[in-house]
Parts: sequence; C-alpha cells; structure tokens
Amino acid sequence: MIALSLAEIAEVVGGQTYDIPDPSAPVTGPVVRDSREVVPGSLFVAFAGERADGHDFAAAVVEAGAAAVLASRPVGVPAIVVEDVQSALGALARHVVRRLGATLVALTGSAGKTSTKDLIAQVLRRKAPTVFTPGSLNNEIGLPLTALTATEETRFLVLEMGARGIGHIRYLTGLTPPKIGLVLNVGTAHIGEFGGREQIALAKGELVEALPEDGTAVLNADDPLVRAMASRTKAKVLLFGESDEADVRAENVRLMDSGQPSFRLHTPSGASDVTMRLYGEHHVSNALAAAAVAHELGMSADEIALALSEAGSLSRWRMEVTERPDGVTVVNDAYNANPESMRAALRALAAMGNGRRTWAVLGKMAELGDEALAEHDAVGRLAVRLNVSKLVAVGGREAAWLQLGAYNEGSWGEESVHVSDAQAAVDLLRSELRQGDVVLVKASRSVGLESVAQALLATG
Ligand code: ATP
Ligand code: MG
Repeated sequence: MIALSLAEIAEVVGGQTYDIPDPSAPVTGPVVRDSREVVPGSLFVAFAGERADGHDFAAAVVEAGAAAVLASRPVGVPAIVVEDVQSALGALARHVVRRLGATLVALTGSAGKTSTKDLIAQVLRRKAPTVFTPGSLNNEIGLPLTALTATEETRFLVLEMGARGIGHIRYLTGLTPPKIGLVLNVGTAHIGEFGGREQIALAKGELVEALPEDGTAVLNADDPLVRAMASRTKAKVLLFGESDEADVRAENVRLMDSGQPSFRLHTPSGASDVTMRLYGEHHVSNALAAAAVAHELGMSADEIALALSEAGSLSRWRMEVTERPDGVTVVNDAYNANPESMRAALRALAAMGNGRRTWAVLGKMAELGDEALAEHDAVGRLAVRLNVSKLVAVGGREAAWLQLGAYNEGSWGEESVHVSDAQAAVDLLRSELRQGDVVLVKASRSVGLESVAQALLATG
C-alpha cells in the first residue's frame, strides 16, 4: 500500500490512537484481517466474527511486527480505535484510492466475475502495473483490503464486486469509485435472496449508476437485462457480445478438439484471432468483456488477442484440467454451476473426448427455484445428445432428475449412475476409470464436489 503514518490513518478513519509511541511511524502494509498474514509494518484489522474475535489476537500480531491494530476498543497494544471497524476500513480505502494515480475498473455479474477479472488482469498487466482482487474477495471487507494493496506504481486496479442485495454495489462503488464499470450478466445466482431477476438487475445496475460522465459502462449486448442498463448511466456505453450491434464482438466462434474456444476478435480498432487456453465456450463472453475493457484502456486488437490467448486460470476449480500419470484426465470445474456453465462444460468435455471415454460427474445446480426440475432434466438429456460415455449423478433428488433426463432422452440404463454422495462417486470411479478417460466434475458450490476431483488426483 502507499505509505501512511499511524497519525494520518487515525485522522482519515476518525479514530483515537492508544498506546502508540510514535504516531509518525509509517504503516507500510499490507492491511490484513488474518493474523497469519501479518508482517512487520502491517496494520491488523480486528473484526469480531462469529467464531473468533480479532481483538484477541492484538498482542500476538504486534509481537509479529504489526505497526498497530485497527480496533473497536483499546487492546493494550498500539491501536487506532474506532466505533465501527468496517466503516473505518472503507474510509481508509476510499482515501488511498483517491490518492492513487490508478484507473479503477470494477465488474459485477451473476456468473463469471472471477474468471473475467482474472482475464482482465492478465491482459492489462501487459500494458502497465495492475492490482486485482485475489480469488473472490468481492465484498465490503475483501474489496477495501484489495484496494489497499495498490501502490504508487499501480496503473490499473481491477475490482470484483459481489451483490447479495439492493444497495450492496452502491456501497462498494462509494468506497472505490470506478472509471470503468463492467456488467457481465444477470442470471439466477442468489435469486432466492433477491426475489427475482429484475431485482438482481436493479442491484447490479448500481455499478453503472456510479460511473462518472467521462467513464465507460461496458455492457453485455447479448443479455437484455444488462443491455437495458445503458439507460441508467451518464457514462459512455461500450457493448460486447456476439450480437452484431456489439462494439467488441466475436466471429467464427468454435470449440476446438481440446475443448478450448477460438474466435476472431473484433474491436473498434481492429481484428485479431484468439485461441484460448481456458476451457469451455462460456469463456468467450468473459474474454470479450475483458477485451472491451482493454480496448477502452488503449490496447490494440492484436495486443488483446495475444494476451487472451496466453491467459490461464488464476483461480481454483474452474475447468482445471490435469492429466494423471496413468493417462486419465480430470477436469475440475467444481467451483460452481449454473445451467449455462453446465452446458458449456459438457460441450467442452465432449470435445475433449475425441474418441476417448468421457465421464460427467455432476451434482445439483442450486438456486434454480421453480426451474430446478426442468434444468436438471435438460442437462441429463444434453449429456446423452453430446454422446458423453457415462453420467455419474451425485446427491439427492436433483441428481435423480439428472439421471432421469438421461434415461428419458436415450433410454440410458448402465450409462448413467446415481450415487448418494461424493465418496460413493470416488469409489465407483476408482474401480472403473481406465487410461485415456476424461472425467468432468461439476456442481454448485454447496455440493463441494471438488473432493471427488481431489481424490481422483491424489490416487493417480
Ligand atoms: P462468485 O459469485 O462465486 O464469486 P463468479 O461470478 O466470480 O462467482 P466465477 O468464479 O468466474 O464466477 O465462475 C463460477 C462458475 O460460473 C464457473 O465454475 C463457471 O462454471 C461459471 N461461469 C464462468 N463464466 C461464466 C459465464 N460467462 N456464464 C455462465 N457461467 C459462467
Ligand atoms: Mg467470484
């Protein structure tokens, strides 16, 4: 982070200093909430969580070299004491971001935020120093902590913003006001908490409402609810997608035998070919979004295409392809699932099969409400139509629906199996897999199906 003294920080957050021998001592960072991440010069933020209270670690972190603790009560060691630690952290982030010379890029959407954020970072960092959200730290705590890792050298700050309700994104944009705001899609994630897609669109659209007049709203032309957000911003609008109206679009999209997509990228400044290292066609939309942001920040179509072609996954369990020494390929996409990414993953699996046996080890897609039965049935049927060799449906009734779909589509008997849990799936696969097989593992986050992929890789 940029160097600030303890006195300056206390002033910014409106806090009281306690037991601080030298208020002019600099905090060199990082600002952390996990006591294990403290290094000399850190500022430790003490959150009182459900299981642990950060204040209990105050003495230990100062012992480990922390310059001070940001706390909600005196803790007997150097501390800046505030009424509300979260607001103080936010105020500090807002202050630091204002002093940076960096351009802020923020993105939100129902699916693909982290994948796209990783793509944007990998493209932009070819041009200039870039700081971005690690993993999915996209909430009111992770976002300011990420912003605070930026330094004077940082040119681009790429921030993932998550929303679980109305007003969440507005709060986040208040902390770190973006110049470029990207909305990927409005799907069904957290639909239960929101109460409908229109509500989700309302919440995500807060991102473009926060943009300044000289900013840019980057919107998905293929998603009507996102497109409609153009009327909610005073910023310039840049559209991406496969639609002809998109400013940044893809032509000749195909899935190669490897399961990786390729396409011709068109931006207002030219065209260039992309062959992705990432697997699954859902990444085409993510790549176009990243390309639109990079174009807006002055990169040429050739530069962007090269960067997209070389970009890998920076976050775990998203179409992570590993070949075991015995020639079995495991595709771990167990981070999450929705109908669209299920279909994309199955198509990638089918393409990768290419004469080999393919296994789809699938669990439930959560949060589908009334659509749940039809969507699981459709995925089961698609597995048959794509000629996947075996479907292993894992879990409760959603798994039964997957299997039933396969049965009804192709009279699948032995080709599909319904097992009750991950361990049963592992046992089955361990005895059945043979050289050359390709195994896709995918379900919603709550299913925790990565344990299957991990077990398969551990025994390779
Ligand atoms: P979270 O809300 O958990 O942070 P996220 O929006 O950051 O999720 P990712 O982590 O990038 O999304 O991807 C989560 C899952 O969504 C992936 O495993 C993939 O299956 C799917 N996915 C990624 N991109 C898309 C997309 N453009 N459309 C639909 N599904 C996608
Ligand atoms: Mg994420």
